[in-house]
Amino acid sequence: MARRSPGPAAGPVTAGPWRAPWAADPARSRGRRVAEAAAPTRNDFQRDRDRIVHSTAFRRLEYKTQVFVNHEGDLFRTRLTHSIEVAQIARSIARSLGLDEDLVEAVSLAHDLGHTPFGHAGQDALNACMRGHGGFEHNLQSLRVVDELEQRYGGFDGLNLCFETREGILKHCPAAKARRLGELGERFLLGRQPTLEAQVANLADEIAYNNHDVDDGLRSGLITIAQLQRIDLFARHAHEAQRQFPGIGGRRLVHETVRRMINDLVVDLLEETGRRIDAAAPGSVEAVRAAPALVAFSETMRQRSLELKQFLLHELYRHPQVGAVMDRAREVVRLLFDAFAEDPGRLPGEHRARVEVLGLRAIADYIAGMTDRFALRELGRLGLAAPGGPWPGSSWSDGS
Ligand code: MG
Repeated sequence: MARRSPGPAAGPVTAGPWRAPWAADPARSRGRRVAEAAAPTRNDFQRDRDRIVHSTAFRRLEYKTQVFVNHEGDLFRTRLTHSIEVAQIARSIARSLGLDEDLVEAVSLAHDLGHTPFGHAGQDALNACMRGHGGFEHNLQSLRVVDELEQRYGGFDGLNLCFETREGILKHCPAAKARRLGELGERFLLGRQPTLEAQVANLADEIAYNNHDVDDGLRSGLITIAQLQRIDLFARHAHEAQRQFPGIGGRRLVHETVRRMINDLVVDLLEETGRRIDAAAPGSVEAVRAAPALVAFSETMRQRSLELKQFLLHELYRHPQVGAVMDRAREVVRLLFDAFAEDPGRLPGEHRARVEVLGLRAIADYIAGMTDRFALRELGRLGLAAPGGPWPGSSWSDGS
């Protein structure tokens, strides 16, 4: 059964039903919080993936900021297209490692469900609003969405996902919160790992955003190819693209470079992970949980990826033009929170009722669920002026 994980030297990877002994097995899931009868045509991980795709929170991702707010251009990534790219990269990796593709897809598609409007700026603002009341963190919120906030089923709140899917969604968790999460929080207290599927989804997220943010950043004009030539990972693949296609430039050069970067990262990850799996030889998911992290880049690639990440942080995410929009976004979230906290009667009915039970957390849940443009529309409904004057599209009505 043991199979070396294929790197480029192993030749083309063929898809097949092969399942490694270290893969999560839907037939041996730790189960759902509320027991349900098996589905006739789908296993439990496939069913989780389908529940996520059908959820309201998933559709909202289409109008939530990744880096660029929604109205800045039709071609920039949103949380939705980001999540789909993560799932695509994660599935490719999972297939090569003999992992469960459905679980890796479910975790990838759900990993950002808890994101606020306006990306990290929205989260930071909401966290500041909730200081002293448990704070706000988007990753924990993703779990909250699938465990409690989706209301679709007669027998339970949330999506009632399998333990393994929920475990994969919760990437990090402070000890105090982990203690309140029972079995799900245990690994943070014991220093254990999640499934390899969860580990793959986590690094596929990093591969996806580093690369699509290069693409989006160049499209926006806020960063340039000349700047990126200082970054090892970009420079070596831009050089290779130009060597293969002399005279190539513009969007084609960007794409030929980014696709090579993604491939390089994925192949490196498969090789390093293959080495670690061979060394640890985990015979089961339980052995994976007890081992050190097995899905990883080589040290050289980790450094290259880090260099790119630092570049994006300083030159793109902290670019004054991005910062100015994000300052306004923080203000939108703060204005909404203060208005609802001051008078919960301004909340729509069902959310008003939740405040009586949950206090400010119900307001945080309501705001976190908003799309960018719905948040702006809510400002208008409350008679509050959008900070910095009208935003393009702020009169849109999407009924979310
Ligand atoms: Mg993400």
